[in-house]
Amino acid sequence: MKRIQTTATWLAIRLALGVLGLHCISAHAATPLVIVAAEDVYGNVARSLGGPHVSVTSILTNPDQDPHLFEVSPSVARAVAGAAIVVSNGIGYDPWMAALVAATLAHGSPPRSILVVADLVGRHAGDNPHLWYDPVTMPSYARALAAQLSRQDPANAVDYAARLAQVLATIAPVAVRVAALKSRYAGTPVTATEPVFGAMASALGLDMHNQRFQLAVMNDTEPAVSDIAMMEQDLRLGRVRLLFFNSQATDSAAQRLRAVAQRAGIPVVGVTETEPHGLDYTQWMLADLDAVDHALDRPRGHP
Ligand SMILES: [Zn+2]
Repeated sequence: MKRIQTTATWLAIRLALGVLGLHCISAHAATPLVIVAAEDVYGNVARSLGGPHVSVTSILTNPDQDPHLFEVSPSVARAVAGAAIVVSNGIGYDPWMAALVAATLAHGSPPRSILVVADLVGRHAGDNPHLWYDPVTMPSYARALAAQLSRQDPANAVDYAARLAQVLATIAPVAVRVAALKSRYAGTPVTATEPVFGAMASALGLDMHNQRFQLAVMNDTEPAVSDIAMMEQDLRLGRVRLLFFNSQATDSAAQRLRAVAQRAGIPVVGVTETEPHGLDYTQWMLADLDAVDHALDRPRGHP
């Protein structure tokens, strides 16, 4: 995770709020309820839960960009200032959202509800922030958001409950598939350029190698020479069965390792930070789980 809370970011937030003249703007819970989600994976579930009663804007939506490098613009500040419900991932993944919310509250906007997904699943600063790859996250988030919608819009509570049941049913196949793959592949040694898939890998019981290396890449620091050597050896000597590769944050070290894996005949599975266009959450997770199954379901040394 590239921490980019630079002076420029804070300046952009202040400028954005200044442009808005937030001292005279108040946020209403009008009809439909306006929801702003930092990440599209949470925004899309909000859309399914709220149906016609909500209007949802997601901020991070571009699968070709690295979300860790996101810069706040005035239009983002404007969207947050007008929201009845704000959703963020938390634990350092989207610090700009907390800053925007704090700034709008300081300017006298009425309290709005803020769902921090990390809090819902008991994660703390320093934990792996790629929470959507943990199969427990989305059901917890859906339940919490449905409860919040019913509190803020009790007239439609029955509809929110029905929609929650539908969303949970749609997500359920992910846990089923995780259990099936776990019974087959638990203990299989794998590695990754970054810890994006980490929570899912541990739900699958995979033996994840080189975690120090991955954290260094995520935090945009240089991995230790010994950690780089260990990673390369794992790939060259075939001590791991697959390499997870963050297709959205491709620094040159990661690309080189992908080439090392390919030369050694080790399958590479691309994973992303942002929901791929055209797929819903369940389709996204199942596509990634299919790729893992395909990569591991073959004899060693036969690419
Ligand atoms: Zn990341």
